[in-house]
Amino acid sequence: MNHLRRTKIVVTLGPSLDDPMILERVILSGAVIFRANFSHGDISLHEARINSVRDIAARHERTVAILVDLQGPKIRIGRFKHKKVTLQEGQDFTLDTRMDENAGDEQAVYLGYENLPRDVRSGDTLLLDDGRLVFKVIKTEPTQVHCQVIVGGELSNNKGINRLGGGLSAAALTEKDRIDIKEAIRLQADYIAVSFPRNADDIKEARILLKAAGGNPGIIAKIERSEAIANIEDIVQTADAVMIARGDLGVEIGDAELPAVQKKIIKIARIFNKPVITATQMLESMITSTIPTRAEVSDVANAVLDGTDAVMLSGETAVGHYPDKAVAAMDRICLSAEKHRNFKLTRQAKDKQFRHVDEAIAMATMYTANHLDIKAIIALTESGTTALLMSRVNSTIPVYGLSRHDATLRRMTLYRGVYPIPFDATHIDRRVLNQAATQELQKRGILKNGDLVIITKGDLIGVHGRTNSLKIVTVGDLPNYSGVTL
Ligand code: PGA
Ligand code: MN
Repeated sequence: MNHLRRTKIVVTLGPSLDDPMILERVILSGAVIFRANFSHGDISLHEARINSVRDIAARHERTVAILVDLQGPKIRIGRFKHKKVTLQEGQDFTLDTRMDENAGDEQAVYLGYENLPRDVRSGDTLLLDDGRLVFKVIKTEPTQVHCQVIVGGELSNNKGINRLGGGLSAAALTEKDRIDIKEAIRLQADYIAVSFPRNADDIKEARILLKAAGGNPGIIAKIERSEAIANIEDIVQTADAVMIARGDLGVEIGDAELPAVQKKIIKIARIFNKPVITATQMLESMITSTIPTRAEVSDVANAVLDGTDAVMLSGETAVGHYPDKAVAAMDRICLSAEKHRNFKLTRQAKDKQFRHVDEAIAMATMYTANHLDIKAIIALTESGTTALLMSRVNSTIPVYGLSRHDATLRRMTLYRGVYPIPFDATHIDRRVLNQAATQELQKRGILKNGDLVIITKGDLIGVHGRTNSLKIVTVGDLPNYSGVTL
């Protein structure tokens, strides 16, 4: 059996993936989560892209998930009369909340956040376009922030602004996000990313809004603000997953702080049994190059070695020249890095009280699997929780999450080392269920007679949160009626 890539690949949709042949290639290379970035483009465009992902995936019987990434209170400038300007070091420049959104020039541009003049004071540092340009605040007026350009350069339409050190008052969910949450539910998003949460309350509020809109997607907390680092444990526990959003985070805390903070977030996410995505600029040079730099290769590999569940491509696939090559590079780098097991997480089994029976089963399964020649783990799962818990433990053994629920299958695409397979156990005689499950994997060429597997399930098939047994089974053996737990 070929080694399956355990680390999952998230790609961002955009013009570069609008060619169905390229998109198909990306899906076949194994990208499983598709991010619709609601910071750009209108809903009908996102909807068309999402439909096209789903159509192609369905044609190839691939399970893929859609991640809707809310814009959040990203502070952006407006547009320039001539698309962009070049600013010189030392010159004055004004951000203006009242001027025409399209009338930017060398002196001033519209500012899309009317509280900024109140949130900053003279002497503050503002970073534009992910820190490429640096402004110093000279003076504020109720609707204007007057700045001096410290680091100049080209500034184009709609670029973002951050304050060094964070501390802007904006709440995580904007009016636009509230509307977009309803759209995301209508589009049946599997995951929703909340941008710029400050604390766990921002995540709780998102959950209330999602419920009110009639849906239950997984909530991904994007860690991209200084405040979020201070509240990281609460945020991780409240969200369903986290994203290390290095673009904005690096600007707010300073790029040099990022590597250590990234490692810490991955560790905390795993401790609290939550999946984690490492995002932004992973293969940035591949926006215009056919190969990554050595530094980028190392960056992706290190995230894998630290135990990230997924790595994400942003501009590389949304607007890059070589989106399919970027995905292929991710695939190759992850596969190589996974050969070197580095992170140790068995401490869960060692010094933590399990909170639930399914956690005990998941940990016992992983312990056993890692110490016996087990080919695969089969988790018969309703909600995917058992598979998620298993994927928190370092292992080279694949976990197949078998479920009858499409939403569960799609949710599991994010979990490291977990592979979703549609399987309805509710109509199968309990006495032959183990055999039916292993046959399903044999049919797919995953298992062969004589392979040893572990199967986990609950007594009540079709009831969630009830996994309470693990069974070691040899593939191809006749069902042993006397040994069956009914
Ligand atoms: P964005 O988030 O691409 O929506 O800005 C990711 C990041 O900030 O890294
Ligand atoms: Mn961001």
